[in-house]
Amino acid sequence: MEQLSAILESCHSAEPQKSSSSWSDRQHKASERWKESRPYNLQCLIEEEAVGHPLCCLCNEPAVIRCRDCLPEEWFCGDCDILHHKKQPLHNRECIIDGFFKAIPPSTCIMNQGDGYCTHEQACLLPVGKASCSSCKGTNIVTSPGKPAILITINGRYDLHQPLHFCETCQRQWAPELKDLIRSGYWPASLSVYTLYTLDLLSSFQELKVISPGFARQAFAKLLEHRTKCGGRSGHINGDALQRSFLELSYSSFEKKQLCCGAEFTCPACTPEMLAVSADGNRKLYRFGQSGSSDDPAFLEGLFVAKDSEVAIFTDAIQKAVKNTQGKGKCGDSQWTAARERSKRASKLDEEVMEVAVCRHGFLLKALNMYGGRYLHTPSSFRKN
Ligand SMILES: [Zn+2]
Ligand SMILES: [Zn+2]
Ligand SMILES: [Zn+2]
Ligand SMILES: [Zn+2]
Repeated sequence: MEQLSAILESCHSAEPQKSSSSWSDRQHKASERWKESRPYNLQCLIEEEAVGHPLCCLCNEPAVIRCRDCLPEEWFCGDCDILHHKKQPLHNRECIIDGFFKAIPPSTCIMNQGDGYCTHEQACLLPVGKASCSSCKGTNIVTSPGKPAILITINGRYDLHQPLHFCETCQRQWAPELKDLIRSGYWPASLSVYTLYTLDLLSSFQELKVISPGFARQAFAKLLEHRTKCGGRSGHINGDALQRSFLELSYSSFEKKQLCCGAEFTCPACTPEMLAVSADGNRKLYRFGQSGSSDDPAFLEGLFVAKDSEVAIFTDAIQKAVKNTQGKGKCGDSQWTAARERSKRASKLDEEVMEVAVCRHGFLLKALNMYGGRYLHTPSSFRKN
């Protein structure tokens, strides 16, 4: 036993010291290394700005365009750039004719006119899946720029043109429909299909909303505008339109999930044997009476937020069964301020509080709107739900 305890003691005294010192050692060494390399980092950052005399990666002519999205073949002369980027309108290109790197929009191209370079405008097509003629099944299709279209991706806004297809066999002309656009990974901002978001962008927006529910759509729109500017492009991004389009996508995705029998608002870990449900009110989730949103019917009425009429029927049933004096917050035998009924906080609010029930894994199960503390007794109902 003595020998063992001696061994244990030697381990205990040696190990924690070693691990703590090695962690702080590592931190210290890392800071030292960063400090040493600071002048070199700065030099590299400055050198990165030098344009030099690059040659086109495709034809060895002097290059005028750099596209880092095309790495490792990043340099292009004017003609090769037009040919190569015709099919890649979403690449962020930079032009070097002024002696420094300048981000240019996809609609700008550079031409060599013998005595010097000049910029030209070109129409860029929205990239969509390959078209084939639906009436003659022909594949002899010529595509030209059609109506203007705005595409918003995680890299910001692109002012492009919708492709206009023309079948040389049967002389039919058509533009891609909504189903073609969705198949190509886009979602409309409105039903006029003038502005499109990528599905990828909306999925990133959803992820941000899940990570940080208070994340503002205006902040997201500002971020996208910043990305637009970084790419040498311009234009405003409407946060409200983004939100609306996002909610429509969420609704359609929900319906799709229902068809695939995916259940929402159940916890896979504790359904059906749910041990505990916690319910609490969130006073930040209120709505102003004048906001007019009550005229706008909900997408998923009663699915997560219980219908007000059903809650009222339930509370009435409870009121009849329990003796409760109006104005006194009685809950069981004890008096409780938060249980006081009809304590209106501010008259301008419509729904004042949202009461949400979660399981012990934090899965949202059910919620209800509270109007002035009226429905405080209801959480017990969720246990049966
Ligand atoms: Zn070239
Ligand atoms: Zn490129
Ligand atoms: Zn045809
Ligand atoms: Zn659970």
